[in-house]
Formats: sequence, structure tokens, C-alpha cells
Amino acid sequence: MSLIPQRTVTELKELRELTADENGAQRVSWTDVWQRARKWFATKLVGLPIEHHYDAAGNNWVTLRGASEKSLLIGGHLDSVPNGGWLDGSLNVLAGLEVLRRFAAEFKGKPPVTIRLVDWADEEGARFGRSLLGSSAFAGTHSIAADRVRTDKDGITMEDALRRCGVHMDHFPNAEKERANAAAYIELHIEQGPVLEKLGMPLGVVLGTKGVERHAITFHGQEAHSGATPMKQRKDALAAAAKLALEIRNIAGKHPDAVSTMGSLKTFPGIVTAVVGRCEATLDQRDLDAKVLAQMYREAQEASKRFAGEESCTVEWSRIWSIEPIPFYPQLVELCEQSVRELSGKSHRLPSGPLHDAAEVSRAGIPTVMMFVQSLRGISHNKIEDTREEHLEMSVAALDRLASKTVDWILEAK
Ligand SMILES: [Zn+2]
Repeated sequence: MSLIPQRTVTELKELRELTADENGAQRVSWTDVWQRARKWFATKLVGLPIEHHYDAAGNNWVTLRGASEKSLLIGGHLDSVPNGGWLDGSLNVLAGLEVLRRFAAEFKGKPPVTIRLVDWADEEGARFGRSLLGSSAFAGTHSIAADRVRTDKDGITMEDALRRCGVHMDHFPNAEKERANAAAYIELHIEQGPVLEKLGMPLGVVLGTKGVERHAITFHGQEAHSGATPMKQRKDALAAAAKLALEIRNIAGKHPDAVSTMGSLKTFPGIVTAVVGRCEATLDQRDLDAKVLAQMYREAQEASKRFAGEESCTVEWSRIWSIEPIPFYPQLVELCEQSVRELSGKSHRLPSGPLHDAAEVSRAGIPTVMMFVQSLRGISHNKIEDTREEHLEMSVAALDRLASKTVDWILEAK
């Protein structure tokens, strides 16, 4: 029996039927719907010559033992954001399952290296605001202390929600054991952006995930009566923030793949009859090149000071979060390029703006690469998220090709 890419599409539709409502996918981690998705997934494993277990961080592992203990890891995530799409994360898992089935059949249950499929727990961080949870426990980059007390919108702590699913945060470090013998990690994902569609490319090779600088920026001015205060005597915190909101676009615009977003702006007192005395903004800057990212951060800081001065305000910055750019493994990028070309006749290399579990795996020192399949309209985290079925099928075949090439690469490397 060989690869049946159509089966992945059929299974994706089955999963959608089981876990979506009229607003989209509802497979939020640590909820009943998510657990239903995982139970359904387990039924797909019946009859395969595999071992199946959940690790200490709730990651879901399917292992097809090979002649060598060295392992090729194929990953994805069954969890979704609330009102999410049918493909984000689940395409990766179900395409990986199809590849695993092909290896099991072709090698009569014993491929040359061990093949491991992982469905990471809580990639999205939708409920507690902590993304890549399971994969960072695997990578050993997770700090439990900061996260266990996080609460969801109903006040339930992360620790309690996880315990309800049988996961004890104290045991998280045990998930690092899964790294043993991992020789390479590959992940297929929908692009979630418009680049491949615009270029007419079904598939793309991901160079790495962009680094992120995320900051809270507060401009301080002076609250004053909107009728009584002459224009020239105002200390308008919003005016300074507004200038910065436009300038960050120029700062990012100097670099081809850089992005910069002011996603939130709050004004105080926030009433119609007062000059804004305080304005709180957020800034999110991303690029694959650490030097570019550092430059963008510096330029935004300088601009904010300049605009604060022009408006007789002051400005303060505090870092919310940051992560360095994570380039993928050059030899695997090469193999991915070959696979994409063999299936689609052409190829395009691009960085990923969103972070993915692959970034955590790569940080753990495991050679990693990702492949993107085109997203229609570039939309995801939305029920209208979609990809042409022929492209989905092509992506399964390309992932399978990449898996074979990577197995050969692992064998050569020993
Ligand atoms: Zn995803």
C-alpha cells in the first residue's frame, strides 16, 4: 500500500465535522472538544504497528520503531484557536499520519530509522496566552513557575486545567526525554499568509521563523480640557503615539521581509472632552535577520523619543516578550527545496512570520525544516481558512518525499 493523499483530506473533513461549529474549529487545548479530537485521532491508529503514548507535557506521540533508534520526527498540533480553521495544525498531524502509514506498509512495519509523529499540546496558547507550550517543554525552554498561575477568562489556573487532562506541570521536565535519538524534525503547515498564493506557488520552503521584539510603549502627556487648552499648549500623548504608529511602517519598509505592527492603543482618560494624558501602545516587530530586527527596534525607540519631544510628552518602553530569529537547518532546507520542486515543478523560499513548534525543536539543537502549502486569501485563525484540495494532496506527497529524503540523510550521517 502506498501513500493516499486524498485520505488526509477526507480525514481533515471528518475532524472538522467532529470539532467545529458554525463559527469554526473549537479544538482549544485542555478542553473537551480538544480531547475529543485526540480520541478520534487515536482511533486512526488502530491496526498500525506503532506505540502510542502521551508525554509529561501532554504531547501525543506515535512511534513506528525502525531498524535504527535514530528518529525522524514529524510534527503538528490538533489544537486550534477558538473559531479557528480546519487546517492550521491538523493538516500537519494528518499528513504526518499518512506518511507514517506509508513507511509502515512499505517497510513491513520496520523502516530503516524510527519514525515518530507528534501532536504537540497547546501550540496556540489560545486559553492561557502561552503558545508552543508542549514543544517548549520538550525543548527544555519552558519555565513552569511563570506559567502555572496563568488564568483563563473564567479564572481557572493553567495548573488546574492541565491537571484535569492528566498533566502535572511539575512533571514537565520529563518531556525532555522524548528528545533521545531525535535526528531530524520536519513539519508541514499552511502558510497563513498571502505570499505563495500571490506568486502562484502551491508549496514553499521555510527558511526559519522570524525573531520577535514585542514591547509596551507608554506616552505620558497631560490631561487637559478639550475646549480650554490651545493647540500649541497641549501635551497630547495620542498625537505622539499616532506619529509612531505611522513611522514603524517606514522603519519596517526598508527591509523586504520585515513586519511591524502596533496592534493595541489605549487612551486615558479616554473621554471625548479631554486631551489624552496617557497613551499605551504595543509594538510587535519581526524579521529573520537578527541584525535587521535589532536595527528596527533601535529606530523605533529613537523615533518614539523624537515624537514624544515634538508633543511635549515623555515615553517609556518595557519589553513584553522577545525571541531570536531561528533559521532552519541548511541541509534540510535543501532537501525540502528538492521535494517541493519534484512535486510542484517550482519552489520559493520564505521566512515564517508566525512562530511554530518547529522553532522550539530547532532551538533544542535538532536539525529542523518546515514546508508551507499555500493558504487561500492568506487567511487563518478564522473559519474561512482554506487551501485548494489539490494543493493539500500535493503537500502530503511533498511531505512524504521530504520524509524519505530525510531518512536517507539520517542514514548517511551515521
Ligand atoms: Zn499552527
